[in-house]
Amino acid sequence: MSEFSNYLEAKLDELVTANRILGRENVCDAFGHVSIRHPDRDDRYFLSRSRAPERIEVDDLMEFTLDGDPIDQKGRSPYAERFIHGAIYAKRPDVHSVVHNHSMNVIPFGVTKTPIKPILHMCASMGCDVPVWDSRDKFGDTNLLVRSMDMGYDLADALGDKRAALMRGHGCVVVAESLRLAVFASVYLEMNAEIQLKSHLLGGDDVTFLSEGEVEQIIGTRTSFTIERAWERWARRADRPYDPEPNQDNFS
Ligand code: MN
Repeated sequence: MSEFSNYLEAKLDELVTANRILGRENVCDAFGHVSIRHPDRDDRYFLSRSRAPERIEVDDLMEFTLDGDPIDQKGRSPYAERFIHGAIYAKRPDVHSVVHNHSMNVIPFGVTKTPIKPILHMCASMGCDVPVWDSRDKFGDTNLLVRSMDMGYDLADALGDKRAALMRGHGCVVVAESLRLAVFASVYLEMNAEIQLKSHLLGGDDVTFLSEGEVEQIIGTRTSFTIERAWERWARRADRPYDPEPNQDNFS
């Protein structure tokens, strides 16, 4: 086995843990998914076969082209909405992980005129501006699933250079430069939504959000220690071992 294979193996193991965490932390239920860009090939990504995230094993992970074609299907059924991932990787070279989910408290902000905005310091990784994509604008009445590259590209266009986008009547996407950060931002996006809903209940429109300057400073001073501290807790809660983030240098 090559050194790189060991690194890739560690990355796939990490992707299993990410799936289990998203299931355990109420970001994904039976639905929703998380991918990583292939560490050695910008034109490929890894995503599970169609299965509930908290049940996923390493053998469920499939490699895809950015167009969503499986490299070695082995009889496995892919997610219908895998096009979300490839379209975002194609349009965002900076992105190395994508989460798509339907977490419950985020939904109201996609179907009303109230924008979701960072309200808690831990939630700054969502960014100040979270666009809303409405599939109906371009595609009319559909079953709302992103079932083609056309729809994926339209969603990726709405996301633009942002860290997250809501999908009207459906869910959201969260993107990041690393898998652990994408998971971190997804958990805290859901938490932000819940806290924001409660704050509007108490204060109506009179709610104080983080300023753009605060968000910038929080993101600018965040270290990998913060992400690791959360990852260790979440991994253990999901009955997975804790391993520090795989670093290619340690495998070569
Ligand atoms: Mn979906």
